[in-house]
Amino acid sequence: MIEAKGYAAQNSGSGLERWEFQRRTPRPHDVLIEILFCGVCHTDLHMINSDWGPGIFPMVPGHEIVGRIIEIGTEVTKFDIGDHAGVGVMVDSCGTCADCQAQLEQFCSVSPVQTYGSKGHDGLTTYGGYSNIIVVDEKFTHRISDKLNLAAAAPLLCAGITTYSPLRHWNVGKGHQLAVVGLGGLGHMAVKFGIALGAEVTVLSTSESKREDAKTLGAHNFVVTSDSQELDKVRGKFDFILDTVSAKHDLNLYISLLKTGGVHICVGIPSEPFTLSPFSLPNGNKVVAGSGAGGLAETQEMLDFCAAHGIVSEIELIDIKNIHPAFERMAKGDVRYRFVIDMSTLV
Ligand code: NAP
Repeated sequence: MIEAKGYAAQNSGSGLERWEFQRRTPRPHDVLIEILFCGVCHTDLHMINSDWGPGIFPMVPGHEIVGRIIEIGTEVTKFDIGDHAGVGVMVDSCGTCADCQAQLEQFCSVSPVQTYGSKGHDGLTTYGGYSNIIVVDEKFTHRISDKLNLAAAAPLLCAGITTYSPLRHWNVGKGHQLAVVGLGGLGHMAVKFGIALGAEVTVLSTSESKREDAKTLGAHNFVVTSDSQELDKVRGKFDFILDTVSAKHDLNLYISLLKTGGVHICVGIPSEPFTLSPFSLPNGNKVVAGSGAGGLAETQEMLDFCAAHGIVSEIELIDIKNIHPAFERMAKGDVRYRFVIDMSTLV
């Protein structure tokens, strides 16, 4: 075992404190990564508060990891020492079930292993990226182009792939009207990808204060959802709505903004169930869909797409000691547009 340090929640809702723990000694197919940056996903907040059910504690959150390879196992072929690498939401899967075979490892039904708060195939609890090092099988480790700013690339490992994947799945592109609900970590990445894929992008936001930012990000239109007149103007407009909202909200309202045959894609995961009027879907053959992260191959495809198109996240770089104010601002929807922890501040 090797010594590691990080920030952990000892119990549900207890907040994070510095904590020392151990990671497995690298195996032949493992890489040892010195973590340089880790994004702060709203999922981290859901998880440390057990919003979706009981978690495994102590919990070291963080699944938007970028770092430098500092050791490689004897069988590693994809990386050399010194390479930059990224780790997203998962660190292992069975490799043989139908989903793994279909390159949808994030849905492995036999033995999925999340980057943190999970039990690994080695029997050890997994700990995430709010830490100095991580040991991961090279298969679950992604190459990061030197063209990308490393700190701003970290959020691509979750916010990036979670928004890229559904846009690709539904072939969103030229000629489509795409609405993005919620301009946060996921939402601002969805805007960037939607534009890069050729769609006309409208941001649907609760925050009037984000209007100018949406324009700067390249969004074609902005609608503040508390203004019923603005909403009326976009009723029936959208082919696709990508819903990134982290809190309770009214799906029926957004579905009414879809064209006939339009698709509302849920990627946000509020802790309370949705309520759907029985009239919302039949009236216009509407579809409600979901999307969860993305597979390994698609994550690498997304990272390469970002390198080719110069796409990274808009970030606020923070000292790990400031994680609690960052969580508080994120809970209020006040993120411009992803907090990223500078791991050199972890002492
Ligand atoms: P975030 O940065 O906090 O952004 C969420 C945005 O939702 C906020 O900025 C806000 O945007 C909007 N919002 C918040 N409360 C709202 C409300 N009550 N009604 C309407 N809009 C509201 O969070 P994130 O990191 O992007 O994550 C978003 C959600 O996706 C979380 O639930 C997270 O767990 C989930 N997630 C899912 C996956 C997956 O695989 N499907 C992966 C990662 C994360 P405005 O100010 O513009 O309204």
